[in-house]
Amino acid sequence: MRKLDTKTIVVASHNAGKIREIQDLIGPLGFVAKSAADLNFIEPDETGTTFEENATIKALASAHASGLPALSDDSGLVIDALGGDPGVYTANWAETPDGTRDFAMAMQKVETALEKAGATSPESRTARFVSVLCLAWPDGHTELFRGEVEGAVVWPPRGGQGFGYDPVFQPKGYETTFGEMSAEQKHGWKPGDQQALSHRARAFKIFVETCLEA
Ligand code: IMP
Repeated sequence: MRKLDTKTIVVASHNAGKIREIQDLIGPLGFVAKSAADLNFIEPDETGTTFEENATIKALASAHASGLPALSDDSGLVIDALGGDPGVYTANWAETPDGTRDFAMAMQKVETALEKAGATSPESRTARFVSVLCLAWPDGHTELFRGEVEGAVVWPPRGGQGFGYDPVFQPKGYETTFGEMSAEQKHGWKPGDQQALSHRARAFKIFVETCLEA
C-alpha cells in the first residue's frame, strides 16, 4: 500500500457535485486540490464495465496530464429490483440528446422502471449508492477504495440539496433523503470520526486510513 506524501493533488472529476464533496472531505486534511475541470483536462471516455475500472481510467488520465497524484470517484446507484441498474451507467441515464444532463428526467426514468417492475412497496425498492475512489500516481501506481451505503428509492423526490439522484435516495435508518441533508449530514464524517454515512465519505475514510495515516 503506497502512502501519499504530498498535499497537492488533482481531483480527477468534471462533475461539479462530486468535486464539491471531495473538496469538502479533503479540505480539513490540509490538501490543496484543483480539479480536472479547473485545469481544462479532457474528460476521458468511461469505457470500463465496473466502478473500479472507470475510477482507474479517470485517475490515471489526470495523474498523467498533471504530473501529480490524482483522486477520482466513480459512483452510481444500484437498485435491486432493476437487477443492479443504473449501476455504472447512472450518469448515462441522465443524458439528454443535446449532451447535457437532466437529473429530474433521470429520477423519473428510475421511477418508471420501478413501477414497470412492480416495485411499489417500500421494501421492494432497496438500493445502494456505491463510490469507488482511485488514487493514481504519475508513474501508473493506483490504489482503490470502495464505499457503499444501503437505502431505498423513494418517490416523489424530496429536498434540493446535494446533487444527482440525492432527492430519491433515503439511507437505511433515516427519515430524510440525501437531498434533504446538509453536506455535513450526508458525509456524516470528519477526520477522526469512526463512522461515515455517504458512500463517498465511507470510501474516503478508507483512503485516509490507508494512504495518509502512519
Ligand atoms: P460517474 O461516476 O461520473 O459515472 O457518475 C456517477 C453518477 O452517479 C453521477 O452523475 C450522479 O448522478 C450519481 N451519483 C453518484 N454519487 C451520487 C451522490 O452522492 N448523490 C447523488 N447522485 C450521485
